[in-house]
Amino acid sequence: KLSIRLQEVGGFVPQDAILLDIGSDHAYLPIHLVRMGRIKSAIAGEVVQGPYDSAKSNIAAFGLSDSITVRLASGLAAFDPEIDGVDTITIAGMGGHLIADILGEGQEKLAQISRLILQPNNGEWYLRNWLQAHQFQISHEMILTENDKLYEIIVASPSKTLIELSEDDLRFGPILRREKSEVFRLKWQSELRAYQAILSQIPVSAADKRQDFLEKIAKIEEVLDVSK
Ligand code: SAM
Repeated sequence: KLSIRLQEVGGFVPQDAILLDIGSDHAYLPIHLVRMGRIKSAIAGEVVQGPYDSAKSNIAAFGLSDSITVRLASGLAAFDPEIDGVDTITIAGMGGHLIADILGEGQEKLAQISRLILQPNNGEWYLRNWLQAHQFQISHEMILTENDKLYEIIVASPSKTLIELSEDDLRFGPILRREKSEVFRLKWQSELRAYQAILSQIPVSAADKRQDFLEKIAKIEEVLDVSK
């Protein structure tokens, strides 16, 4: 059964999309979406031979080799914008830095993409900052837990009239920080405890460093409305 994390990623894929799933591993996500009648076709991109082979055999086992193509390639090299008609890209289960690097390496190929659905395991600030710097507007965000892990999903589209993100938006998520869901609170309460633990170890003599952490803590408390 598909993880809740990947089901939620798939939920943001537009109906009848032509999908490129980068780092597809077993190709579970494109297989799920084709079987649900959600997408027209998909390319599953994988840079490592083992996962590439398992994607291929899974797709064949479901009889979906006509609608899902597997390509052994790094990042955006898996598709040709003039031939493949890809309009949606998913990249899930990697660090935010790696996701941004993958997008940055073939940036001119993103011109025809209408939606990016990204699920960074960390480095969310960096990824949001990259999106902003490259004219992508975040349209949806989601935070969820599965097996005691926290995951964020960031959905973005190219935009000529970008609404600039504040430092708080970059850090907490422009949509997540306004929604303040239960899971969002859990994440930042745990970050808060971690920062407080670090602060308690910083000697009073390191005043600048203490100040730095005090500011980080105050910011999280503000977002969590701790005083209320
Ligand atoms: N997307 C799946 C998920 O979310 O469950 C699999 C995540 S798995 C942790 C990351 C996959 O990305 C691995 O199979 C790895 O080989 C692949 N990968 C890493 N860098 C890549 C790149 N530059 N291009 C394509 N695939 C890559």
